[in-house]
Amino acid sequence: MISRIDLRGAAFSEATVSGGIDRDLLPRAELDVEAALEKVRPICDDVKHRGTAALIEYAERFDGVRIDQVRVPAEALRRALEELDPAVRAALEESIRRARLVHGEQRRTDHTTHVVPGGTVTERWVPVERVGLYVPGGRAVYPSSVVMNVVPAQEAGVASLAVASPPQADCGGLPHPTILAACALLGVDEVYAAGGAQAIAMFAYGTDECRPVNLVTGPGNIWVAAAKRLLKGRIGIDAEAGPTEIAVLADHTADPAHVASDLISQAEHDTLAAAVLVTTSADLADAVDEELDRQVAATKHTERITEALTGKQSATVLVDTIDQGLAVVDAYAAEHLEIQAENAAEVAARVRNAGAVFVGAYAPVSLGDYCAGSNHVLPTGGCACHSSGLSVQSFLRGIHVVDYTRDALAEVAHHVVTLAEAEDLPAHGAALKARFGWKVPGQ
Ligand code: NAD
Repeated sequence: MISRIDLRGAAFSEATVSGGIDRDLLPRAELDVEAALEKVRPICDDVKHRGTAALIEYAERFDGVRIDQVRVPAEALRRALEELDPAVRAALEESIRRARLVHGEQRRTDHTTHVVPGGTVTERWVPVERVGLYVPGGRAVYPSSVVMNVVPAQEAGVASLAVASPPQADCGGLPHPTILAACALLGVDEVYAAGGAQAIAMFAYGTDECRPVNLVTGPGNIWVAAAKRLLKGRIGIDAEAGPTEIAVLADHTADPAHVASDLISQAEHDTLAAAVLVTTSADLADAVDEELDRQVAATKHTERITEALTGKQSATVLVDTIDQGLAVVDAYAAEHLEIQAENAAEVAARVRNAGAVFVGAYAPVSLGDYCAGSNHVLPTGGCACHSSGLSVQSFLRGIHVVDYTRDALAEVAHHVVTLAEAEDLPAHGAALKARFGWKVPGQ
């Protein structure tokens, strides 16, 4: 079912920037966000100019449901929590508890560096004032994404946060009740029934119902990613989190049934989801193929999973050694990377590029999707080589506060003037000279 790429005997260079292997040799979906930009531009402009009326029209066109208002009434949030299945409530509460433990420890404290006597630079960490959190709801609904967006924002101290998720035709035009219940559990009372590019535009430009935000985070499909790219600058965005990816680096010790079930678990998200097995063992690859055939047929979403596993973004990559496997997974820079090999922790410690790493047989990606305590909003499409997943840090800005006395400034003034002159910016130097009667000490 899954195609094979045989890199055994291939030349791996010493270069490390792409993991020593040409990235183009590796499978990846061609997600043309640039082309989608042209399609989302008129949608975003329309929301900018017509606000709620445009959102209502797009709900009908893209989500197939006629809605009267975009803001979810408080009563609907309260009812969703009341009617939530107690087992789902308990699971969400545990997910929130663990996420708070991990994200609570990510909080940064302000720090003052005494550069010279009388001269300090303090780095103050200040939360973004207002954020918009996107929770996808096209093919699947993701109450877990409510937790993964809201918890770090709250732990960072964000004062105002709003959630948007697509209106569901079979839920009377509201977002899915489990999403509403998760918002209510977390104390979020500002929720909008808006999906896709139009939801991002609502956050960026504001409407009569929704004040504009400073930052938008959260995963979504290509329309969401394109709108975030288009509106970046007006709003801040997190890394573009697109179709999910799993890479498994495995050797002969891995259990093929576990490897197959983990590949399937992420393929279940989306027909564009990527599942990549990198292994030193051709026997394991064969056994995983057999398991995939057996297990996929028994899943609920067989068609979607089969399309994801047979797509060009998924493959088994054969390598000679674990070191070469590491080069491949570093070049691939997976959103989720599992290490199922001898000395898994040691191998994991050598990984340079991944959104999150799952170590050994008992840390499947599904655990991270819901209840590990880690965040599941992670960089996809190779962005893990330069970006991190969502964290408390995503919602903070560091402000440098510079505080120098006259003596401390006098000590360094001649260097400042010299550098200003070297850059042909004499007015910069003059700003110091003015403070010292135009005779800079040391010059
Ligand atoms: P979504 O909420 O991102 O998108 C649904 C919206 O897309 C609809 O409301 C509609 O407005 C818009 N849309 C649909 N067709 C359109 C069209 N032709 N033109 C313009 N807009 C259109 O939900 P989804 O589609 O299920 O996608 C969710 C994605 O998020 C999946 O790819 C999933 O893998 C990914 N995801 C990633 C993470 C992560 O952390 N990386 C977590 C959860 C989900």
